[in-house]
Amino acid sequence: MKTYAGSCLCKGVTFEVTGPLQDFQTCHCIQCRKTSGHYAANVTVSSLQMELLRYDSLKWFTSMDQVEKGFCSDCGSSLFWSFAGRDGWNVAAGVFDDQLDAKISHHSFTAEKSDYYTLDDGLPQAPLFDLEVSVKPSFYPKPKPTHKTDNEQ
Ligand SMILES: [Zn+2]
Ligand SMILES: [Zn+2]
Repeated sequence: MKTYAGSCLCKGVTFEVTGPLQDFQTCHCIQCRKTSGHYAANVTVSSLQMELLRYDSLKWFTSMDQVEKGFCSDCGSSLFWSFAGRDGWNVAAGVFDDQLDAKISHHSFTAEKSDYYTLDDGLPQAPLFDLEVSVKPSFYPKPKPTHKTDNEQ
């Protein structure tokens, strides 16, 4: 099975995702605008696919709507997000070190996008979260992976 390595800018957080990867989706919501500085592109993976190799500087911020954002507290890289208390990781496309055998499939939350750029790549656009495509229900009834809370000491 092919694996895909990823890391933050300072390598305080490193991980490996076992493929195959689903297609990526972008998110133009206000939260992704703030955490990315532009808009985000993420791929959803299950906790069975995700192996955190190093997470010394991984911190989690929980936003008002119970979305957890994983970032490096040393270099500031935005790395992951997940729904609080649910399995499944959304991994930022840009933090992978390897080339990805996947493409962006659609744009989500375009209702919240800013007006300084246009989306003219022909990909489907969902005004809000496209649940059918972006959230795979089979990932979500399970408990949160324990290695995330191990780091919150
Ligand atoms: Zn870092
Ligand atoms: Zn978003």
